[in-house]
Amino acid sequence: MAQIELVVGDITAQDVDVVVNAANSSLLGGGGVDGAIHRKGGPEILADCRKLRAGHYGRGLKTGQAVATTAGRLPANWVVHTVGPVWSAEEDRSALLADCHRTSLRVAADLGARTVAFPAISTGIYRWPVESAAKIALAAVAETLDGTPGITSVRFVLFDKRAHDVFAEAASLLDR
Ligand code: ADP
Repeated sequence: MAQIELVVGDITAQDVDVVVNAANSSLLGGGGVDGAIHRKGGPEILADCRKLRAGHYGRGLKTGQAVATTAGRLPANWVVHTVGPVWSAEEDRSALLADCHRTSLRVAADLGARTVAFPAISTGIYRWPVESAAKIALAAVAETLDGTPGITSVRFVLFDKRAHDVFAEAASLLDR
């Protein structure tokens, strides 16, 4: 069975096949993980994103969807960009957060990737509470891995120990 690992670290430093970017629908860069990936990965990633916007993704990438580009100068081979939902107290957007994880893993598997690193999507600028995001992300990944044989390892890269501990608690409750 594919393993799920939790580490504290920087997503841009991960030596994996695919790094998932918590992008926004414009695909043209932003803050947080997105800013760090473009800064460290260099201009090739943005050039690929611009090509996507000029082609199939003229209106940008929808929330919950995912698309791949080069990883430029990052240690990874590809960046898979996905758009998480903005947290809402009025509306339950959990299905969209789960979709981000499912579609990113499917795009990664289609590329032939074996190892994938995810940040804690939506928990930064998009304000999703980490406790809730961790449960949704882990459940969606565990479920998708069962039907995605090529992937051997998924690593959640948490920016601080608090987020790591929250993910660890959610993982301990996962029926796997
Ligand atoms: P979103 O817009 O989807 O909320 P953000 O990039 O703002 O995405 O934040 C997602 C999570 O990633 C936050 O918990 C943030 O602390 C964390 N984060 C920010 N930069 C990095 C990084 N370089 N590596 C790993 N995690 C990061």
